[in-house]
Amino acid sequence: MGSSGLYIVLLCPRCGSVRYAKEGQKTAQCLRCGYRIPLNPFKVKILLRTRSREAAAEAVKRFKVKAAEARKGAKAKGVRRLRLA
Ligand SMILES: [Zn+2]
Repeated sequence: MGSSGLYIVLLCPRCGSVRYAKEGQKTAQCLRCGYRIPLNPFKVKILLRTRSREAAAEAVKRFKVKAAEARKGAKAKGVRRLRLA
């Protein structure tokens, strides 16, 4: 059995990257910086809890896209200055 089928989407407290893990684990290793994230709701920022692994993976993807767009947007402001004379 084992009915703890909850997934949590969380932020790495060290580098801020998003990942998901199964609730009930004690730690989850960050894929970007290698930090062993303690799965403790008092220590990490939990973005989402869901029973569906697909929903968790989808949420991670969405947060990554959002972060990438925010970075791009900040850069593009200074660069896009081409004008047709
Ligand atoms: Zn990290």
